[in-house]
Amino acid sequence: MNTNRQLFLQHLGQTSPEPMMLEPVRAHGCRITDAHGKEYLDLIAGISVSNVGHSHPEVLAAVKQQVDAYMHVMVYGEFVESPQVQYATWLAAHLPGALDSVFFVNSGSEAVEGAIKLAKRITGRTGLVACGNAYHGATHGALSLGGDESRKQAFRPLLPDVKSIPFNDFTALERITCRTAAFIVEPVQGEAGVVPPVQGYLQAVRERCNATGTMLIFDECQTGFGRTGQMFASVTYGVTPDIITMGKALGGGMPLGAFAAAREHMSAFTHQPVLGHITTFGGHPVCCAAGLAAARMITPELLQHVREMEQLFLQLLQHPRIREVRSAGLLMAVHLESEAINKALIQELLQQGIITDWFLFAADCLRIAPPLVMAEAEVRYACHTILQALDRVTVEN
Ligand code: PMP
Repeated sequence: MNTNRQLFLQHLGQTSPEPMMLEPVRAHGCRITDAHGKEYLDLIAGISVSNVGHSHPEVLAAVKQQVDAYMHVMVYGEFVESPQVQYATWLAAHLPGALDSVFFVNSGSEAVEGAIKLAKRITGRTGLVACGNAYHGATHGALSLGGDESRKQAFRPLLPDVKSIPFNDFTALERITCRTAAFIVEPVQGEAGVVPPVQGYLQAVRERCNATGTMLIFDECQTGFGRTGQMFASVTYGVTPDIITMGKALGGGMPLGAFAAAREHMSAFTHQPVLGHITTFGGHPVCCAAGLAAARMITPELLQHVREMEQLFLQLLQHPRIREVRSAGLLMAVHLESEAINKALIQELLQQGIITDWFLFAADCLRIAPPLVMAEAEVRYACHTILQALDRVTVEN
């Protein structure tokens, strides 16, 4: 009989010529166990998803309770589904500024789609501006805003009237004009290899958007829910957008996306046209229940822990082969000498039972974005293993 690994290659649509091929049977906290009984320490949290750790008992309890009550009952926006109401209320209380209206969808890409539609509808404009090396998702609209031409070329034509400007470039903000519906930006660029904003950049972005009447969208799909050491990076950097997109950790391990805006802005979707944005499964009650249970666990103490573990990683990750470590909380990129060394290191670490990854636009950077609950001893063990592996890895020239 074919093994699961063979069937995976045969019947699942593949995304890469070299999938990791780890076959999980269990995941708890910061650990994943594979089909051979080997245990791995997870340094990437399902790509910034499992912020409170895998299979947290409180998340599981919330899921089970909701499954017992009801699953899908109606398309989004018609019935008063308590898990959606509870979570939106919690989010309204924790989001920065006056972002008090939450529209639930299913993924980060969908959140971006909804956000740019909302910006166009509110402003009556068509222009969109995004940043070089940005990643906003894989759907046509979100891909149009992505900052890497090599990923877009094969799928053109994409959205018209999109401009790309370099991140952290103050002068380039002049390209945001009175014709721009929205400027979308990750407050910390993730797939670019963790590039935090330089001092004053996000404030300058806010001012330019105010001056031109442009909707400022922060894509917090990866930076949200404690990842950068505050609940949202908007808080970390003290700038409030007009629209914020969320995904990944939002669902506590279940698929969920959302975009939030002030209620007077969000209400634009109810008319001209009516049902301006709709979704069948957006805000699935089981996903909302899971997400709320997880979000409630992101306490000030956990945020403090994130900042402390960031410092510990920075202190320990020192090696002649490491050029630089860039970080924003527990979103970290270890910049190595080359892509080849990084790929070899990732393989070696997998052998050693540590799961890491690279970045879409920074293949020479090792991704470290563990569950935020990772214990100090686990961080020390991970760093020790990474440094030892760096001593060992060789690449053929
Ligand atoms: N925005 C950002 C900043 C992301 O990091 C991602 C996913 N990596 C997305 C959007 C897209 O999210 P999804 O894969 O859930 O569609």
